[in-house]
Amino acid sequence: MERQAVQRAREAFLSGRARPLEFRLQQLHALQRMITEKETEISTALKQDINRSQYDTPLLELIGIENEIKLATEKLAEWAAPRHVERNILTISDEVYIQPEPLGVVLIIGAWNYPWALTLLPLVGAIAAGNAAVVKPSELSEYSSLLLRALLPRYLDKDLYPVVTGGASETQELLRQRFDHVFYTGSSSVGKLVMEAAARHLTPVTLELGGKSPCYIDRNCNIRTACRRITWGKFVNCGQTCIAPDFILCEPSIQGQVVDRIRQTLLEFYGADPKCSPDYGRVVNQRHFNRVMSLMEGYTPVVGGQSDASQCYIAPTVLKDVPPHSRLMQEEIFGPLLPIVTVSDMDDAIRFINEREKPLALYIFCSDKKAVKRMIEETTSGGVTVNDVMMHYTLSSLPFGGVGQSGMGRYHGKHTFDQLSHQRACLVRSLGMESVNLARYPPQDRRRARR
Ligand code: NAD
Repeated sequence: MERQAVQRAREAFLSGRARPLEFRLQQLHALQRMITEKETEISTALKQDINRSQYDTPLLELIGIENEIKLATEKLAEWAAPRHVERNILTISDEVYIQPEPLGVVLIIGAWNYPWALTLLPLVGAIAAGNAAVVKPSELSEYSSLLLRALLPRYLDKDLYPVVTGGASETQELLRQRFDHVFYTGSSSVGKLVMEAAARHLTPVTLELGGKSPCYIDRNCNIRTACRRITWGKFVNCGQTCIAPDFILCEPSIQGQVVDRIRQTLLEFYGADPKCSPDYGRVVNQRHFNRVMSLMEGYTPVVGGQSDASQCYIAPTVLKDVPPHSRLMQEEIFGPLLPIVTVSDMDDAIRFINEREKPLALYIFCSDKKAVKRMIEETTSGGVTVNDVMMHYTLSSLPFGGVGQSGMGRYHGKHTFDQLSHQRACLVRSLGMESVNLARYPPQDRRRARR
């Protein structure tokens, strides 16, 4: 089944039909039509998968995909055009250019937390770049995966862009096949398996992984607004967002204020009982519920802490004075728990961040522009947003991706197109002006005489 899908995609790619720009545009328009016509079904599937609110689905997933389709259709001719570059003295009268060309068959493996965006955003780039693509959504977001498998072939060329569903064993079987690029989103541990499997075929990979994204709140900032933005970013999708602020770093003197502000914001967002709020989600399954609950063991939350295993419900939870070496601070939380670790000042925060793996995102809340610049300069992360969370993700002009353990490669907008294209070096010469070339031909003594 997996092998046949790859074979069909390969044959379809070799037929050449994915290459003309008109075809790419037509497929992208069809994808847009699918989203417009099936928005309700998509929202319902997400409600069944993770109790995602009907309001959040367009905001968090669909608008982003639509924007990427719009940009790709508007800019495709420009992106795909040959780029003329500088010549040297030996090629002065020649044509020298870089031609983006399709790689071939791309494997897109998505995670469950944003099952539509994590498969369709790379697919937009794969189509725009003229590739075939096998799409493997996550088995954990089952309703979305089955819906994607039913919908995509109704709108797009079914041989060029097949959907394969299943879990680890089906993905392993896919990874035994040869692809021209593997685009993976998920945990770092599976990312290593993906890279290992791809290495057997010398296939390049993009790995969109996770990690612990720190959020530093400086005493010199509007703590009320900062906490409002952080509360949204942390608890939207029930904390299951790769670039959610994982933990807060702040000075002990403002910790109490931060806790109070988050408590008030939670009340405003989700009411006195978030379990009844239509805007608050659920942990994806029992395994993840147990994992997140076990991270809290031994701590008394200052906000939240309630849970209901039968619904995979964990209340928005804040923990203060969390020791830096606790388990909570060792692994990515990926759930609605927000630990606060205190640091003595910005320098201490910088040290704390640099002692750990390079994060996918870094958030800095601070009104002192000079201090902000210094913190950006003295740390690293896949991306950074200052005085807000997650918003760098929404800009197609910015490359989205990790660094070090948080991943490799980048996408969004033209970055996806470039990531899934080969930048072919082209030199087109004429057979004239042969005298210019004589200095490079043997025999040596004649060469010397010509110099
Ligand atoms: P997941 O369990 O859905 O796995 C991701 C994909 O890997 C799925 O398609 C799954 O079928 C496949 N898979 C799982 N185990 C496998 C195995 N043993 N062999 C081969 N394939 C396998 O998702 P997850 O890994 O729980 O996702 C959460 C992680 O993803 C978090 O770390 C999060 O930060 C990260 N993430 C990153 C981004 C990003 O853009 N950087 C976005 C979303 C999630």
